[in-house]
Amino acid sequence: MRAQSLSLLRTATRCSRLRPHAIAARPAQFTLRQSSTSAPSSPSTPATPPAPKEGERKWSTPLAQFLGQAITTTGPISVAAYMRQCLTSELGGYYTRTPTAGEDQFGTKGDFVTSPEISQVFGELIGIWLYAEWLAQGRKEKVQIIEVGPGRGTLMDDVLRTVSSFKTFAKSIEAIYLVEASPHLQKQQGKLLAGTEELQKSEVGWKAPCKYIPTCNIQWCEDIRFVPKEETSTPFILAHEFFDAMPIHVFQNVPASSIPKSSTIMTPTGPITPKNGPTAPGNQWHELVVSPTNPYAPITTKPGEEKPDFEMTVSKSPTPHSLYLPKMSNRYKKLEKTNDAIIEISPESLSYVSDFAVRIGGANGAASRPPKPGSPAPVKPISTEDEPFKKAQASGAALILDYGTTDTIPANTLRGIRSHKAVSPFEAPGLVDLSADVDFLALAESALAASDSVEVHGPVDQSFFLATMGIKERAERLLKNAKDEETRCRLEIGWKRLIDRGPNGMGKLYKAMAIVPYVEGKKVRRPVGFGGDIMG
Ligand code: SAH
Repeated sequence: MRAQSLSLLRTATRCSRLRPHAIAARPAQFTLRQSSTSAPSSPSTPATPPAPKEGERKWSTPLAQFLGQAITTTGPISVAAYMRQCLTSELGGYYTRTPTAGEDQFGTKGDFVTSPEISQVFGELIGIWLYAEWLAQGRKEKVQIIEVGPGRGTLMDDVLRTVSSFKTFAKSIEAIYLVEASPHLQKQQGKLLAGTEELQKSEVGWKAPCKYIPTCNIQWCEDIRFVPKEETSTPFILAHEFFDAMPIHVFQNVPASSIPKSSTIMTPTGPITPKNGPTAPGNQWHELVVSPTNPYAPITTKPGEEKPDFEMTVSKSPTPHSLYLPKMSNRYKKLEKTNDAIIEISPESLSYVSDFAVRIGGANGAASRPPKPGSPAPVKPISTEDEPFKKAQASGAALILDYGTTDTIPANTLRGIRSHKAVSPFEAPGLVDLSADVDFLALAESALAASDSVEVHGPVDQSFFLATMGIKERAERLLKNAKDEETRCRLEIGWKRLIDRGPNGMGKLYKAMAIVPYVEGKKVRRPVGFGGDIMG
């Protein structure tokens, strides 16, 4: 999770300093108050905006100033647009800005730590998972390894080190793709995985030879759509703490009587009047939108808390997203009669997971499968394709690890974290990490809807996944060979934290879900780590 302090664990010099839960996990939450009224070169980004002229509003960061001015011109923006800007804007997004010397997003000096940073065992087991899938699928040639959102590259480093010891598997790997929005993190990944920050220009973005498998390049790009899709290749896709960083739209089910009727719809280019007039009576999904706080309003923050630049309000008018996103699944429709229900939907996540499914199984229509009793209602796939992509034979796998809900729809889960503390997601845009719970069921629905030739396993708790992958045995072997007491302590605390099911551990909060090929008429094969709990 954005848990607290992996790098503490990996770099501490004395056992006594290794406090397993010294740093808060990312799912810690700041209570949101909804307003009652309504190789590349990295961009260098100043941490403070220019001093305001007299009478001008003071913003906490240059990005806040940009967003504030944009919203003043075009009207409130969706939570998704706000999140997107805060995380990946070229004007100083959380991931895309270049941290100043000594500053870091990850680790003790940074804002949060993640499982791969806590223990090498995590990435090693994921490497073994990939190998087990590759064996189970008949040792395919032309393998692509893809990771979305690799952070510092630590997970991929542990995965590739492990995989390179399985010679025939390593030989089958043709390319490694890292989908990363941050130029500065691309360089860090280059340093770790290729031994250089000097990345060369490539067709999809940047490249450098992999230090573990020299016959193959690591390729960087900013979006999964740039990763080539080939009928005969077998993609193995990893997404660790990626989906929680994907922008969410938030909707509240508002009784028609409580919101003044409006005949306009807000769009990014301004309000428009729908042809069919005001919307029908009854409950309606209204989008929660982001706008600047009133600089003259009385200060309601506690001492030491920053007054947020922005706040969230209920949009009075329908937005383009409120008109169609909540209609996408029966899961949302079931809440239509529940006053004030809140749902979070991440179309970008659904688009990514659909892309994973299509890479593995080919686009819908390749094989048809009757719906299973009790399976989720079909949703319309979000397609990123111009032409449906077909595969002669489904192959590959996607492994998604993150925190989120397994059977409910996330609500009120947008959170800000800074220096291991929960803060308002609306303060210091670009300096605060934003994330939201992952809706695993929505991901599963979307994958199944995108390709008839995949099945989804899980989500299972991370503790279950890692325990059945043999974390204890692997850790014991490493402990036996540990060269000193410090290494032993680090290993011991690290692996236990990954499967700890308590409130500060990562075993229960984090889930694992796998997308693998579905072969009609063949007995279901559960992937390693997913001993039960089959969906689809
Ligand atoms: N997987 C890593 C890092 C998780 S943080 C770990 O577990 O340690 C999220 C990662 O996703 C970062 O690398 C961030 O730069 C990247 N990211 C966030 N939004 C992205 C987007 N829209 N496209 C591509 N990468 C993105």
